[in-house]
Amino acid sequence: MTHKLLVATHNRGKVAELADMLQHLAIDWLTLDDAGVTLDVAETGATFRENAILKATAYAQLTGLLTLADDSGLEVDALQGAPGVYTARYGGTGLTPVQRYEYLLANLAGVPWTERTARFRCVVALAQPAGLRGTAEGTCEGLIALTPAGNHGFGYDPVFYVAEKGVTMAELPAEVKHQISHRGRAVAALLPRLRQVLAE
Ligand code: IMP
Repeated sequence: MTHKLLVATHNRGKVAELADMLQHLAIDWLTLDDAGVTLDVAETGATFRENAILKATAYAQLTGLLTLADDSGLEVDALQGAPGVYTARYGGTGLTPVQRYEYLLANLAGVPWTERTARFRCVVALAQPAGLRGTAEGTCEGLIALTPAGNHGFGYDPVFYVAEKGVTMAELPAEVKHQISHRGRAVAALLPRLRQVLAE
């Protein structure tokens, strides 16, 4: 039996990644657009976890569907953990992803390689209309590159150097990114709960 699962995002890159990671499950993937949702739940939480829970519970209630939400972003040590929950809005509204990572690189001008440590963090939340069913977190450690490289992935991938692989995230094929990425690890940690809910 195929289960409908709403992914609480407008970001096609994220939905494609999630669907790819969970392709072994019998899931009929719906985006907010597919579900006809026009309302945007404001990400007012102070943490990734709060935002993921806000989105999953609100959209599940709104649509009546089992809903998976993720909230993620970049924490840069030299910027005291910024941009964090503001990663998607970093540098202001209306910027392209390239402009956003260029803004990040400009803010790190002169910061030496050893002090460019950073991590991607992701929290996923699973909710039904009746309430929250689970959350899980994943992180991926790296450094902010001196110059962009690679054209896979999305967002900040070209400037996120994955030390354990010796290349940027955008230079990794999708299946390798999924094994080591913050979202891949968060989804893997949520999998037992997701299987349980789908089996009910
Ligand atoms: P969210 O949609 O509120 O979770 O915002 C996430 C922000 O972090 C967006 O700006 C994304 O581009 C960025 N981001 C999250 N995950 C990744 C990733 O895997 N690669 C590159 N950028 C990411």
